[in-house]
Amino acid sequence: MSATARLNLAALSLALGDTARRFDADLLPVCDSSNAVLLARAEAGAPTGTVVITETQTAGRGRRGRPWLSAPGDSLTFSLLWRFAPGTSPAGLSLATGLAVATALEKVGAGKTALKWPNDLLRDGRKLGGILIELVPGAPHAAVIGIGLNLRLPGEMPEDLRARSAALAHPIDPNRLLAALLIQLLDTLNHFARHGFAALRHDWQARHAFENAPVRLLADFAPPRDGICRGVAGDGALLFEIDGQVERILSGEISLRPR
Ligand code: ATP
Repeated sequence: MSATARLNLAALSLALGDTARRFDADLLPVCDSSNAVLLARAEAGAPTGTVVITETQTAGRGRRGRPWLSAPGDSLTFSLLWRFAPGTSPAGLSLATGLAVATALEKVGAGKTALKWPNDLLRDGRKLGGILIELVPGAPHAAVIGIGLNLRLPGEMPEDLRARSAALAHPIDPNRLLAALLIQLLDTLNHFARHGFAALRHDWQARHAFENAPVRLLADFAPPRDGICRGVAGDGALLFEIDGQVERILSGEISLRPR
């Protein structure tokens, strides 16, 4: 393992071994957002397994256009195009992706990651990474899966964000880590495509950051609501208990916070 190893496609291909043929990866020194680049390539007909990796994003984004901060060498930032069979429901895809990332990190010995509905990866309650799923316009069964992970905390991070962010505890070769992530994504997404999120729910809940914990739901156009998080349903809905009733929360416009 080397702290100074840089991403490169030859090393990635070597680390992927036989699985390399399942992916078509491109490494960009700089782009606005790897999701935006891959969405454009998907619209132009790129096949499933196309990967855009970038060292620098000038306009990295999270949900609802929120910024995602990354820095070359400090962050692993990439997007993967997956074309599901017509009829496949994308419900729970961001949860399945989070599970794949957590599992890959465990397999490479990079420690345990907790999952927060619907799209965050946490260490000690702080954000280690995020996931942004975007459906390809005009191709409703094609999804661009964007993943950003902090290998180290980006140097230029504002203090308040730094206090809410986490990074991997030990240096890891980013090529080896990315290969492990892609191999696990292949496995988990195939499982998801065949059986839906329900088949992954147990493994997701085993890593759930807020199982049976008091939480606050924040919505754009409604007051915050306090309740208890009862995990997730087989279709990926958040199960939120309030006044003794369990509600199913589906909307991605909602944010979950610990209380
Ligand atoms: P939600 O709970 O609704 O998902 P969120 O704040 O987690 O809200 P996301 O869209 O998932 O929103 O991620 C974007 C947010 O992540 C930014 O607003 C910022 O607070 C935080 N963020 C940006 N860059 C990083 C980073 N490198 N590491 C950790 N957190 C980051």
